[in-house]
Amino acid sequence: APATPNSEKLYARAREVMPGGNTRTTVFRKPHQIYAQRGDGCRITDVDGHVRIDALGNFTSLIHGYGNRLIIEAATRQLEAGTCFGMPTESEIRLSEILCDRLPSVEQLRYTNSGTEAVMNAIKAARAYTGRPKIAKCEGAYHGTYDPAETSQDASPATWGDVDRPGSVPTAKGTPQGVLDDVVVIPFNNTPIAEAILRASGNSLAAVLVDVMPNRAGLVPAKPEYLAMLRRVTRELGALLILDEVITFRLGYHGAQGRFDVEPDLTTLGKIIGGGFAIGAIGGRAEVMSVFDPSKSPPAVPHGGTFSANPMSMSAGIAALEELTPAAFEKLEALGDRFDQGVRACFTRHGIKGQVTGLGSLRRVHLTDAPLSDYRSTFAAADGATRVSALAKVLFDEGVIIAGNGLMAFSTAMEDADIDEIVRAFDRALLSLAQ
Ligand code: PMP
Repeated sequence: APATPNSEKLYARAREVMPGGNTRTTVFRKPHQIYAQRGDGCRITDVDGHVRIDALGNFTSLIHGYGNRLIIEAATRQLEAGTCFGMPTESEIRLSEILCDRLPSVEQLRYTNSGTEAVMNAIKAARAYTGRPKIAKCEGAYHGTYDPAETSQDASPATWGDVDRPGSVPTAKGTPQGVLDDVVVIPFNNTPIAEAILRASGNSLAAVLVDVMPNRAGLVPAKPEYLAMLRRVTRELGALLILDEVITFRLGYHGAQGRFDVEPDLTTLGKIIGGGFAIGAIGGRAEVMSVFDPSKSPPAVPHGGTFSANPMSMSAGIAALEELTPAAFEKLEALGDRFDQGVRACFTRHGIKGQVTGLGSLRRVHLTDAPLSDYRSTFAAADGATRVSALAKVLFDEGVIIAGNGLMAFSTAMEDADIDEIVRAFDRALLSLAQ
């Protein structure tokens, strides 16, 4: 591995003032963290001068990479005009117009500073709208860290319960039993079992929260009949369907809902819609969104937030979306396919059992050829998962950044030559792991 004395020094300082030297579990790495200095296009230079291709983009949020001209200009103009006010700005209207125009089911929106808060407010909206306490979510799917949304991601299968009755397992120690009792866990992509569980919750169900391609459950697309069942059954039960597009909005010009042809009542957004600044959003039918409406004070769900809809995130987000044209999506799709073909060829060449899941600019590499459909099948390849994190480490030293679980996100700042460079690094890394 390349020498990293400057990162080591920073990490020693960090350990004094942050637990484990870390303030974001997702980016923790052993034996010490590697600190970023700057980003250019699709590359990051660390504090020791090593340059790596960024094939993760701050966990899928930087769809235009670093240094995009239009985003810099928009953000700089806003920086000079004022970063935040205790007043609304026109920028929140413009971003909403763009998102309403693109997302078929979204008539109105509100903003937060993270995807976690977007999911939290969507759940609170569903509870207020239906007057019911429970939410259902797919086993193993990540939706941020709001108590009910973060259940059932425990890494010890012994706690999971039967396949046809997955348990509401806490993720953070100390989660109150009362919270867990109000979460209904359904298996992803298993239509009959999920339907039976939802029906058993009957009239206490406020909403089903689903991501059409949940990263932690394998980044496997939902089956059309599974999504159709969720839509049909929630309507029958009088519950809402919340689509979490915090990651998957980048799957198409009309979002994941356009690509998968599903019509949710509420949609949660984040990541790319802030152009690299902190953001989250809840959108949906005006009738449901009216639970937030303070003009009929008091609203059913009061929602504030000191930095919600701050004009830095709004104006950078507007620029990012204006750059995200249908042509940009075509490019992203082609980059994803080029990577997919390249890495499959590496697997074949070296006789390694592996596969790539995902769609468009979102892909995840697995070192198993077992069929993957949900959290349990992805987790069952535990040996594979361990080797994927080893692969990610080797790739990092070979100059390519991917997530420890194999997740990757491509950006419009990339060209075919960058994908080819990534594939060559995979080729070297896979060969060294196979030896
Ligand atoms: N939902 C999904 C599907 C996510 O992937 C994430 C974050 N990776 C979140 C919600 C939470 O977003 P944030 O990290 O902005 O709180």
